[in-house]
Amino acid sequence: MAEPVALQFRDPARARALLEALARLTAHRSEGDPLAVMHVCGSHEQAIARFGLRAALPPTLRVIMGPGCPVCVTDAPEVDEAVALADAGLRVATYGDMLRVPGSARSLDDARASGARVEVVYGVAQAVAAAAAAPGEPYVFFASGFETTAVATAAVLLRDPPPNFFVLSAHKYIPPVMEIVAEMPETRVEGFLAAGHAAAITGWGVFEPFVARHGIPVVVGGFEPLDILAGFAALAELARAGEARVVNAFPRMVTREGNRRAQEQLWAVFEPAGGQWRGIARVPNGNLRLRAAFAARDARRRFADVLAGAAPPGCAPRADECRCGDILAGIAAPSDCALFGGPCTPAAPVGACMVSSEGACRIWHEYGGAPRIEVREAAP
Ligand code: SF4
Repeated sequence: MAEPVALQFRDPARARALLEALARLTAHRSEGDPLAVMHVCGSHEQAIARFGLRAALPPTLRVIMGPGCPVCVTDAPEVDEAVALADAGLRVATYGDMLRVPGSARSLDDARASGARVEVVYGVAQAVAAAAAAPGEPYVFFASGFETTAVATAAVLLRDPPPNFFVLSAHKYIPPVMEIVAEMPETRVEGFLAAGHAAAITGWGVFEPFVARHGIPVVVGGFEPLDILAGFAALAELARAGEARVVNAFPRMVTREGNRRAQEQLWAVFEPAGGQWRGIARVPNGNLRLRAAFAARDARRRFADVLAGAAPPGCAPRADECRCGDILAGIAAPSDCALFGGPCTPAAPVGACMVSSEGACRIWHEYGGAPRIEVREAAP
């Protein structure tokens, strides 16, 4: 039997070398004034937590999870719309993470418990197949996710799905929210680690206007431990040199131009629109809405009468104490929330950040946040 081969992107010796480089590059900072960098991707936070990277980072580097969980930033009124359609008797399908996200007063899970027909799908293609199997009844796909997921929704709509298939879009677009975070006086972010999968579609060039406007460097990073550490090292190097530019630290997947075909499909179907991101702010051009050419597929337009009668915004129990917005803006950590791990757990979430597997509170609850792990050398 062949010897097991060490994974190229999980090599401990290279990881140690990158951590030493990070310590060197941030040595001029202090624990009280660490270099603060933000990633905007739930998959990055999952990898950081799963591989214990935060505990191994030097105390002179602070890694903040920004608004990179699409479920967490789906605003309560968007959930209310899906609940209203389900309550009206329409079949509503969505990703599993969306089920328990609180609306103003109820979640889709609550609607399901009251008898509404809410279904979980693993992808938009499954929703289309379910609609095709029951041509006599309207089928609404409550679509969430960033540009990576929105491309899949766009591709389906361009392929002429069955006439009873509709989309309620809660899709979001990441670059505009980086502008908002950069302008928040409290955040103090000195560099962004951008998500490699989103940049594979948009291309790394999409971040150049942001860098020019704000003078903050952006590094595009992959999702293996060495990808992430190399991304942080590149950010630390840029910060130390006082250089603001885009660096592609994920060249095996990302090009400057990105995937042109996917971009064409995305922008043929969707247009950017301003909208509230839960707990953060109104983000100009941060929401992706269906263009007028796809009005016949747009659940907001097709069922406008139902949505007009939707329940007025209420308030989920203790929602006013939820600090999701501060966490997503990098102002607070999950453990700063008084409800964390007590009244708010994955089994009984108060806020959206505790629901999704990409939510900061859920990930910290699962993996223990930033534990101080003692690193020992392996025995010879
Ligand atoms: S622990 Fe719960 S209530 Fe607190 S910020 Fe996180 S999701 Fe909101």
